Amino acid sequence: MQVHSKLIEVACPRCGLEKTIGVPETLFSQKKYGHIKIQVPQGVVCQDHVFVVFLDVEGRIIGYQTVDLSISSTPETIPKEEISLEDGKTISLKRFIMMIG
Ligand SMILES: [Zn+2]
Repeated sequence: MQVHSKLIEVACPRCGLEKTIGVPETLFSQKKYGHIKIQVPQGVVCQDHVFVVFLDVEGRIIGYQTVDLSISSTPETIPKEEISLEDGKTISLKRFIMMIG
């Protein structure tokens, strides 16, 4: 029996690299509804990231899930804005809007 593959164009959710991968059609024929979860190993789409692709039964991409390999990832520290009321007049409107949200 010949194995047919469905070609799916996936993009790394981390760095955006795109690649077409072949997914065995038997994966889809086994499923009548719901979604198919495929883990893309490191080096298949890009060299640095592992991620999971969710497909529907038609082979359309529903979403991505990133898989974190590194445990010691440091959260980004947001520099604290120093605002004083006395200095308020010098803050430009644009900057003010940015601060509010
Ligand atoms: Zn990547």
